[in-house]
Amino acid sequence: MKPLLQADEAQALLDASIRGELPDERGRFGPFGGRYVPETLVPAFERLEAGVREHLHDAGFQQDLQRELREWVGRPTALTHAPRLSERWGTEVWLKREDLAHTGAHKINNAIGQALLAKRLGAQRVIAETGAGQHGVASAAACARVGLPCCVYMGTVDMQRQAPNVDRMERLGAEVVAVETGDKTLRAAIDEAMRKWVTDPSGIYYLLGSAVGAHPYPYLVRELQSVIGKEARQQMIDQAGGLPDVAFACVGGGSNSIGLFYPLLGDDIELIGVEAGGTGDGLGQNAATLATGTPGVLQGSYTIILQDDDGQVQETHSISAGLDYSGVGPEHALLQATGRVTYISATDDEALAALAELCEAEGILTALETAHAYAAAREWSKDNPGKRILIGNSGRGDKDMPTLTQYPPRIRTDASA
Ligand SMILES: *Cc1c(COP(=O)(O)O)cnc(C)c1O
Repeated sequence: MKPLLQADEAQALLDASIRGELPDERGRFGPFGGRYVPETLVPAFERLEAGVREHLHDAGFQQDLQRELREWVGRPTALTHAPRLSERWGTEVWLKREDLAHTGAHKINNAIGQALLAKRLGAQRVIAETGAGQHGVASAAACARVGLPCCVYMGTVDMQRQAPNVDRMERLGAEVVAVETGDKTLRAAIDEAMRKWVTDPSGIYYLLGSAVGAHPYPYLVRELQSVIGKEARQQMIDQAGGLPDVAFACVGGGSNSIGLFYPLLGDDIELIGVEAGGTGDGLGQNAATLATGTPGVLQGSYTIILQDDDGQVQETHSISAGLDYSGVGPEHALLQATGRVTYISATDDEALAALAELCEAEGILTALETAHAYAAAREWSKDNPGKRILIGNSGRGDKDMPTLTQYPPRIRTDASA
C-alpha cells in the first residue's frame, strides 16, 4: 500500500494537530474525517455543529460541565501507582483510573457533556447506541441526571453478552431497543439510531458514544474525553515526578485513547493504541482496524476500516464488546499516518491473561477492553526495562462477569509466568 501521506505533509498535519487546529472547518483530520452522510441527515449534523460551536467552549456551559464532572462523575479520577505489577514487569507502571468514574468507565465524561449539550439545544429526547453497554448505561444515567428521556439502540449479540448492562439501563429509566439487523453489534446499532434521528432532527439529540462518525462527533467526543489526558499529565508530574516514557490505551472507536493521547501529543512520550486481535489474523477474526484495515467510508467518516476487496465492511470478532467494531475514529487514522501514534493488537487470550494478572497483582478487576492495553504494555516492558509507563484504565470489569465465568480464574504464583 502506498503511504497515505508524504513525510513533510505528515509533519505539517501533526504540528497543526498539536496546535489544536484539527479538525479543519470541513471536519477533516488531514485526509480523514469529514461528513459523508445522506442528504436527509445533513440538516441534523449542521444543527449539531452550530450548537457545538456556540456552546461547547462557552464559559457558562463549561462551568456546568466542570461541576457535573466534579460532583456527579467523581473527577478527577485517581492516578494509581502499580507497585506489584511494576515489580513483575520491570517497569514503573501507573494507571489512570477511569474505572472509578461514575458508572464504571470513561464513557460518562462524554455522555454527561453531550446530555448537557442536548439540554442547551432544546432537545426533547435523547437517543444513543451502545456496544459494550457502557455507553448505554452512561447515557441513561446522564439523561436521568439532566431530565431527558433516553432510548438506547443495542445489537442483540451485545445484549446477550452484556445482560447486566441492559438491566442497568432500564433501571436508570432508558428504553432499550433491540437491533436485529446487520452484524447485530455496535455498527448496526449506530445505523438504526441514525435512521431514527432523521425522523425528528430538532426534537431528538443523538448522543454518540465514541470518537467516530461524521463531523462534529469525532471532535466533540475528543474535546469531552480530553479531561483524561489533561488530568493524567498533571498527576504524573505531581505523583510520579515526571511524564511517562510511554502511554497505552485500548482502541475500539477510539474515545478513551484519544482522550488520553490528545493532551500528550506535544510531549516526548511514545503513544501506543491497542486494538482487539481477537482469535487470529484473518478478516472477521479480529477488530484490529488500524493494524490491518484500509481507507474507506464508514458511518459518515473517511477513515480506516475493515473491508474486503470489494469494499464490503467486514464483521469483526473480539471477546470484548467495546472493541468489536470495524471502524475507528478518523483522528486515529491521521495519527497513525503521521507516525505519532503506533497501533498494535492483543488477542483474546492475551487480554484474558492480562486481566487475571492485574486482578492478582493489584486488586483491580479491569474491563476486557482495557485488558488489551495491559497485554501490550506487558510485552513492551520486556524490551524496555526501567521505563515509566502510563496505562489508560478505561473501565471496570464487573460488566464482563458473564463472559469471564466461562474462563476459570488462573491463579498465578510465578512472577515470570
Ligand atoms: C466502550 C469501551 C471501550 C472502547 O471504546 P473507545 O471509544 O475506543 O474508548 C474501552 N474500554 C471500555 C471500558 C469501554 O467501555
